[in-house]
Amino acid sequence: MEVKVVKFGGSSLADAEHFRQVAKIIKADDARKFVVPSAPGKRFSADIKVTDMLYKCYEMIKNNENIDEQFSKIADRYNGIISELGLSFDISGELEYVKNAMLHHSGRDYAASRGEYLNGLILAKYIGFDFVDAENVIFFKEDGTFDEDKTNREMRDELKRHRHAVIPGFYGITPNGTIKTFSRGGSDITGSIVARAVDADLYENWTDVSGFMMADPRILDTPCTIDTITYSELRELSYMGATVLHDEAIFPVRYAGIPINIKNTNRPEDPGTMIVPHAHTYDHDRIITGIAGRKGYSVITIEKDMMNSEIGFGRRVLEVFEENEISFEHLPSGVDTMSVVVETKQIDDVRDRLLNRLQRTVRPDTISIEDGLALIAVVGRGMVKTKGTAARVFDAISDADVNIKMIDQGSSELNIIVGVEEGDFERTMKAIYDEFVK
Ligand code: ADP
Ligand code: ASP
Ligand code: MG
Repeated sequence: MEVKVVKFGGSSLADAEHFRQVAKIIKADDARKFVVPSAPGKRFSADIKVTDMLYKCYEMIKNNENIDEQFSKIADRYNGIISELGLSFDISGELEYVKNAMLHHSGRDYAASRGEYLNGLILAKYIGFDFVDAENVIFFKEDGTFDEDKTNREMRDELKRHRHAVIPGFYGITPNGTIKTFSRGGSDITGSIVARAVDADLYENWTDVSGFMMADPRILDTPCTIDTITYSELRELSYMGATVLHDEAIFPVRYAGIPINIKNTNRPEDPGTMIVPHAHTYDHDRIITGIAGRKGYSVITIEKDMMNSEIGFGRRVLEVFEENEISFEHLPSGVDTMSVVVETKQIDDVRDRLLNRLQRTVRPDTISIEDGLALIAVVGRGMVKTKGTAARVFDAISDADVNIKMIDQGSSELNIIVGVEEGDFERTMKAIYDEFVK
């Protein structure tokens, strides 16, 4: 018997009308046995996600402010859904419990996780599925990292006992019994963990777009939708800002080779995007699969004559970053220069210390930090087979009159990364897209 795990994002569960649509989708296919909901998202663009409202409540409590009004807005979201669906379900006791626990300092992650928890309770009631609390099946280790083995084992055992179940996304529990969430957008990870535990045939990830598009639709006007993409390509794109799917969500399903299908809740008939382990069986004729990018990077450039013959130079530079707990993104280098590209937010509080330490450790001729860099990843499994792709990328960028500040090509030849000034970001994305798609 085929088994599908279905995850619905916040916009797919933002109001009663969407709940009805979600129920219709689940009931349309018997294989859709395990459902992972997010917290109610935005109903319109100026709306606020319940998760953000919960974070705000947490901050207010920290500042000793009264949360009655803020919390009642959250309660209204859930009560509105329940009453519009005509459910005879009284969630007031749960809401009261959550509010009290928050007031008794149950933590920031606990607060945020209640968005999914409460939505999961309502969805389970509405569609008649069992509710399996994520705190009983998703585990973190003492050091805060995800406990993959324990989770897989315990979730598998638990879900065997349920024909159908709703498992709220985004959170799990630590060994000392506190609730912990994944990073933002983490319900995608929960869906993937559930898919692996039940050995699903397919992980359907339902959202508000008809699949993964070749570029961010908020930057380019209606980019083409990608029909199939590999796990590796997806990881490059989602890490670089294509936020449709959390960039860590492929790891659990990757082990088992379970494909992910990104689908649109509002247009269920659209095929969406298939994310698959390998693509040779799904070959397409495009050289480029997708483009993604992000602003907010800085480059630290170190110059020193004869750097290349100084054994251990690179290691000493990177040790300084490690001491300051900064992870780096790229390391473009020349004979006498070495640059380290990092997220600006990682160095904001340690700039002076970092520069001083680098000065003392490697005694460079010059050292500088330049902010305001945007990185763009051009990703495609077709690039390995095609000569001249890099030249086309660079020509397109220079024809758009944009100056390239950095270039890095991944050793797998799956991606080319270019750095440009933040002000040129949108223009560069468009130029590359037009070169390969139009
Ligand atoms: P959900 O709430 O369902 O988890 P998200 O907001 O996390 O949905 O992800 C879907 C959104 O991702 C889309 O509405 C779109 O604005 C954005 N997005 C960014 N890059 C892309 C891309 N390459 N293709 C499609 N959508 C993208
Ligand atoms: N509700 C959480 C968030 O807004 C998790 C998720 O939606 O995946 O980040
Ligand atoms: Mg999401």
